[in-house]
Amino acid sequence: MSTLFISDLHLHESRPHITRAFFHFLQTQAKQTEALYILGDFFDAWIGDDDDAVLPQQVAAELFALHQQGTAIYFQHGNRDFLLGNAYASKAGMTLIAESTVIDLYGTASLLLHGDTLCTADKDYQQFRAMVRSSQWQQQILSQPLVARRALATQLREKSQSMNSLKADDIMDVTPTEVITQMSNAKVTRLIHGHTHRPGQHSLIVNQHPAERIVLGDWHSHGWCIKATATGCELHSWPIE
Ligand code: MN
Repeated sequence: MSTLFISDLHLHESRPHITRAFFHFLQTQAKQTEALYILGDFFDAWIGDDDDAVLPQQVAAELFALHQQGTAIYFQHGNRDFLLGNAYASKAGMTLIAESTVIDLYGTASLLLHGDTLCTADKDYQQFRAMVRSSQWQQQILSQPLVARRALATQLREKSQSMNSLKADDIMDVTPTEVITQMSNAKVTRLIHGHTHRPGQHSLIVNQHPAERIVLGDWHSHGWCIKATATGCELHSWPIE
């Protein structure tokens, strides 16, 4: 019995080798697993479930095949694909989960986050996040024609890249006190997240208890996943050709 976690694949038509690596992952590692959790930024951009581009359709078909074989698939939004909705999720055989979710992982309560809410030092981003997560903003965007939304997505990608390149390293990482606060509020000793592109396994103390924070990597030169079993969590990576 095992459960897998992935995040930050940033699937995009400009990176077909990442899509291929993901399909290979589904047909190999994910096949023998009881559940697969996708913790956000799975797609590099999401402009609405009505997007008729080829890539999301192919991905939905592959995920649905895994779902039909008996693997439960869960999807948590990232800061890139937060507009992904129930229509696409059901087409892909996935269940959407809340932006902060606690699961019982083989006896250990584990908090699942994309990770962007932990980066509280990035005030500009947190302000932007509050805006784009409002239903008013989302309705206004989704009511625009696909072509306008595609242009907006390109613009936001470029803005994000140029803004992030100007920011200090520590601003782009999690705020340690925020990690403790969120783990303490959720009453967990394990946190699994992505977003920072700083994969690693960290020990910490939460409410006087030993705890761990495991960070997924982004799929770039390597693929990354966390494999959880009754004996614990392991962070795995492998090269992508
Ligand atoms: Mn992210």
